Amino acid sequence: MEQTLYLPDLLYAGIAREGIGLLVNEDGNVAAYATPESAPGATVVRLTGKALFPGLANAHSHAFQRLFRTRAEGRTALGRANGSDTFWTWREQMYRAAVFVSPEAMYDIARAVYLEMLASGITVVGEFHYLHNSPDGTPYADPNELALTLIRAAQSVGIRIVLLRSAYLRAGFNLPPHPGQRRFYETEDAYLHNLDALLSAAANQPQVTIGSAPHSIRAVPLDTLKRIYAFARDRNLPVHIHLSEQLAENEACIAEYGHTPLTLLAENGILHHTTLIHAIHMTETEFEQTGRAGAHICSCPTTERNLGDGIFPADTAARLGIPVCYGTDSQAQIDILEDARQNEYHLRIIQRQRGILDGIHGEIGPHLLRCATAWGYSALGLNGGSLHPTLGQPADFFTADLNDLAFLGADKRSLATQAVFALSRSAIRDVAIAGKLVLVDGHHPQEEAIRTRYKSVQSQFAQEAP
Ligand code: ZN
Repeated sequence: MEQTLYLPDLLYAGIAREGIGLLVNEDGNVAAYATPESAPGATVVRLTGKALFPGLANAHSHAFQRLFRTRAEGRTALGRANGSDTFWTWREQMYRAAVFVSPEAMYDIARAVYLEMLASGITVVGEFHYLHNSPDGTPYADPNELALTLIRAAQSVGIRIVLLRSAYLRAGFNLPPHPGQRRFYETEDAYLHNLDALLSAAANQPQVTIGSAPHSIRAVPLDTLKRIYAFARDRNLPVHIHLSEQLAENEACIAEYGHTPLTLLAENGILHHTTLIHAIHMTETEFEQTGRAGAHICSCPTTERNLGDGIFPADTAARLGIPVCYGTDSQAQIDILEDARQNEYHLRIIQRQRGILDGIHGEIGPHLLRCATAWGYSALGLNGGSLHPTLGQPADFFTADLNDLAFLGADKRSLATQAVFALSRSAIRDVAIAGKLVLVDGHHPQEEAIRTRYKSVQSQFAQEAP
């Protein structure tokens, strides 16, 4: 069997090793940690001056929102009228991008955003996809047109994708349909039918899997939520849902059901194996229920601080053994390690202490790195993210330049903590998916074409929806 030995100066896989490489089988899985002497038949790829890490998992992305980056940082007209700008006024701006995107534009945007993810060391993206219909709100001839476009975009740049097909049935409890959401809406029957068709279309495609994502309690009534959950569990699909990002969302849920969103999920048996996106405004008891149910939480701190959502209590989650992972969500920034460090930094600001997450799950650096890697893979229903040879995991990894000025001085002892608290995207050099390099020394073979296409879509958007 053909084997490849990737030989960096430092290899991080739970602990840092020096002078040891990652031996990868022909099938793209990790075979062993080895040296050229212990793997004499292997092709050796020297990664001199670099450290090799498990690939970062981006468990929550809405690719098209990249188009909207920085376009609503100031006061909006609606915000001025309301007296303040919030998540809700931002959302109105976001709908302009949602209405604008054609399948061709979606492809170009997604290729740029997925390339940016690769360049940030991300090896898998969980694409929480709710933009289903044509711009006038009617389904495309193939209702999975845009989902399949996103999959094709991911395949063309080489990133692993879990397409989390979202269900979005209504604007909210007692609310009329919102025109900005017309591309999201499907009936329950249509949703389940289209999810099933997408499962068939994506079956056996390498590095593509499918999950189910009821958008939120706001957008999916409880009875439908229960049926979607049962459908997904029967097929062993990961289930993701936005939950308690905003207090208004909790209040609307209490008004409709007499429970908070988390309690509603727990009481209806929908919490097991589910990944909760955000989970900011929850009580201690609700975090305890989450921990008991074995649910993951996907925290998106760079988006949450951008939107003014609130602060995720990462210390409570860690204490209760809840696996936390990260997502780039609105694409305000694409930097999973920044998300990891913000989990700690946000707590430092409000508690006026340091080292808050240290010692709960071992040292702070390895803990946050595990959140950024292995727990992201598990939230997406994948075996990966730790590069452990006995687990049959794919060799999804990235390398960082030990001579990059942001990373200079990182050594075996400090490697994980340096990666979490200091590693800048500029240091990321190579990315491999299933043992194949897709980014080499910071470059991708299609980067110029991807840039050109993206700039054209962005300028069209600026003209049509300024
Ligand atoms: Zn989201």
